[in-house]
Amino acid sequence: MRHKHPISVVTGAAGFLGSHLTDLLLARGHRVIGIDNFITGTVANLAHLAGNPRFRFIEQDVTEFLFLDGPVNYVWHFASPASPVDYLNFPIQTLKVGSLGTHKALGLAMEKKARFLLASTSEIYGDPLVHPQTEEYWGHVNTIGPRGCYDEAKRFAEALTMAYHREHGVETRIVRIFNTYGPRMRMHDGRVVPAFIGQALKHKPITVFGRGTQTRSFCYVSDLIEGIYRLMMSRYALPVNIGNPTEMTMVQFAEAIIRATRSRSRMVFKPLPQDDPKQRRPDITKARKVLKWQPEVTLTQGLRATINYFRKKG
Ligand code: UDP
Repeated sequence: MRHKHPISVVTGAAGFLGSHLTDLLLARGHRVIGIDNFITGTVANLAHLAGNPRFRFIEQDVTEFLFLDGPVNYVWHFASPASPVDYLNFPIQTLKVGSLGTHKALGLAMEKKARFLLASTSEIYGDPLVHPQTEEYWGHVNTIGPRGCYDEAKRFAEALTMAYHREHGVETRIVRIFNTYGPRMRMHDGRVVPAFIGQALKHKPITVFGRGTQTRSFCYVSDLIEGIYRLMMSRYALPVNIGNPTEMTMVQFAEAIIRATRSRSRMVFKPLPQDDPKQRRPDITKARKVLKWQPEVTLTQGLRATINYFRKKG
């Protein structure tokens, strides 16, 4: 560690991942300045930090100029709508935060001589033709499809991050985040984990899109955040996949949720959204080697904690 109380800026701090990252940084002795405009984040995710002298919050859209007094050691750029339903609702803001927002966050890092980490995504691989996805794969993205606003914004963000690294010598890190779940997801953000859990807890039909043969691999949030922290503290500037390589179909996932909630729900099949990736699983060889990281939380353990959270939320 470079400083006794390092100072971290987290954009998107009121979001699902941003708030968990903020908690981990505070636990590891950082001072944290959180920034969010609450477009998809919620104040409830940070409510437990009220009065914490090492946490400061600024309500701001990060596509606007970021001015901060004093030193900053790390900039963690997590601001973005991240669920397919959210970025369908806010396509322009999604493109703006990935492009203009990343530009401002990199500018802040450069000005403060801070290290910068971009929260990128498995979506940069699009509907992948290579399986599992390695960092060397360039992806298969429909630029003009409904997911293009998110995928291309993040691809641009990666390109801009590498440009600041090469041209300005900013110390940069890029994490490609695969499907992640856990407490603080929004019940109605449209993603499969809260959708299925919410339906199962109410014994309502589980809405499987398409034939449910498409696959995903779900990482529990504490594993993901630990991997991201290690990446920031590493010396590795190229993109690293962080995710859980345990792959399953959406039908298998629905069955797991029904079992874990002891629900009477049955599956119903709904149309598959356009450009929905058919299979997704991270190759995490790089993370294992460079970061000595691998996921520790099993699906059973992670689902238990997540289901408890949603039960309490009602
Ligand atoms: N999905 C589903 N039912 C739902 C919501 C999502 O079957 O109610 C499917 C979706 O078609 C996709 C997978 O679950 O194949 C994961 O979707 P999610 O929106 O969580 O994220 P994605 O991985 O597509 O970004």
